[in-house]
Amino acid sequence: MKSSDLRKAFLEYFKENGHTIVKSAPLVPKNDPTLLFVNAGMVQFKNVFLGKEKRDYARATSCQKCVRAGGKHNDLENVGYTARHHTFFEMLGNFSFGDYFKKEAIHFGWDFVTRVLGIDKDKLWITIFKDDDEAFEIWNKQEGVPSSRIVRMDEHDNFWAMGDTGPCGPCSEIHIDQGPDVGCGKPNCSVACDCDRYLELWNLVFMQYNRDEDGNMTPLPKPSIDTGMGLERVSAILQGVHSNFDIDIFRHIIGNISEFFRIDYGKDSNRDVGVRVIADHLRAMDFLIADGVFPDKEGRGYVLRRIMRRAMRFGKKLGANEPFLYRFIDTVNDVMGDVYPELLQNKEMVVNVVKAEEEQFFETLDSGLRILNDIFDKATKRVVDAESAFKLYDTYGFPIDLTVDIAKENGFEVDVKDFNELLEKQREASRKSWKGSGDEFVWDAFGDIYKQKGKTEFVGYDEFETKARLL
Ligand code: ATP
Ligand code: MG
Ligand code: MG
Ligand code: MG
Repeated sequence: MKSSDLRKAFLEYFKENGHTIVKSAPLVPKNDPTLLFVNAGMVQFKNVFLGKEKRDYARATSCQKCVRAGGKHNDLENVGYTARHHTFFEMLGNFSFGDYFKKEAIHFGWDFVTRVLGIDKDKLWITIFKDDDEAFEIWNKQEGVPSSRIVRMDEHDNFWAMGDTGPCGPCSEIHIDQGPDVGCGKPNCSVACDCDRYLELWNLVFMQYNRDEDGNMTPLPKPSIDTGMGLERVSAILQGVHSNFDIDIFRHIIGNISEFFRIDYGKDSNRDVGVRVIADHLRAMDFLIADGVFPDKEGRGYVLRRIMRRAMRFGKKLGANEPFLYRFIDTVNDVMGDVYPELLQNKEMVVNVVKAEEEQFFETLDSGLRILNDIFDKATKRVVDAESAFKLYDTYGFPIDLTVDIAKENGFEVDVKDFNELLEKQREASRKSWKGSGDEFVWDAFGDIYKQKGKTEFVGYDEFETKARLL
């Protein structure tokens, strides 16, 4: 089944079961400073769960654009190394706002995966929150899942929250065992293992609480359902491959990147990592910029910059010495543009922004890398000190996670704690110096005018061109 068919089949199934199909929200959450980017399908419904907003439907379904590259759910550094993590991905979901609860949610999930998609029941495993006997009974009695295939897990894996605050609740997940040839290969590998063997496909969250800043949990107006299933992961299963990067969408992108770098993808695992990083990060930058995020020194723009610079550095390792990412925006649009027309509408702008960011970073990338290699060569301890990491950040534009990434590849650690202190000191100093020089500058400028011309009157409320009329 093609990814585009899966997207359709999912929405169609839930529509037939009384759900309204809702379009993906943009990646930048509306009026929600608690969240960097939309990281799950439920985000656009946050206030509906909290009872603050009413919709004219109680059941919804969507295919939501998500980015997980900062904040509570951050997969940036996994990308390239696992077969299942992206920075940008699509999340299929169904939602109940105080309508159905566990019984129906579990039934829909199991029915869709086993009957509609035809995935082999014998390969599936279920996780539940440790004391959720109700979920256990439903999986076991209602759906006939053997008790040996239902595993109880703790808060870390089976209590889902969008961020540090907001709607949350216990959850239950459907995993598929891809067999001992996939993942860590350890004899004790199980559904609790973090490797790719027992692939997590679908998370069903039983939304019951709202968590506030102090960590207090209050019950939601009505128990609700929020589910999330990664489109790329399920596509991989349906297409008989063990990596998201081998599905139809990625095959095209990876094909073009490999051709450009003259790489025979699949032959050299080190170079393959780079190709995957670039393929993944290209989608993220295309979607983020098309949704109005621009590379910047802080906030959302800084997360985008980190993604872009990480991709550039991997490109550099594959032999790029000049901007290259911008050439592949069309490639991404070839496979994503029909479902997400915003990519096509903003194509020119995206290409320009990517190219400009690349031109800027390529100027300093070489010098920064030379400094790091020098540190690796001369080191007596396998640590990059905070001052060097800070210099790389401040002078060469290396985001700290880029330095950490490169250090890790060379068996080094980075003194991130002291780096953060230096960063904070610099911010503090620039806040102070800004205030001081600003005042002095204004004072000096007006002082000079006063000395030359005497008293002035401000007329800017009525006139735009003449800034001040001399008295
Ligand atoms: P994992 O344990 O594999 O990191 P997760 O538990 O963090 O996944 P959830 O927060 O439960 O993921 O998100 C719901 C679903 O979204 C997952 O079951 C998975 O199918 C998909 N998903 C989550 N993170 C990613 C990602 N970084 N890239 C692609 N798909 C993802
Ligand atoms: Mg995760
Ligand atoms: Mg998980
Ligand atoms: Mg999960």
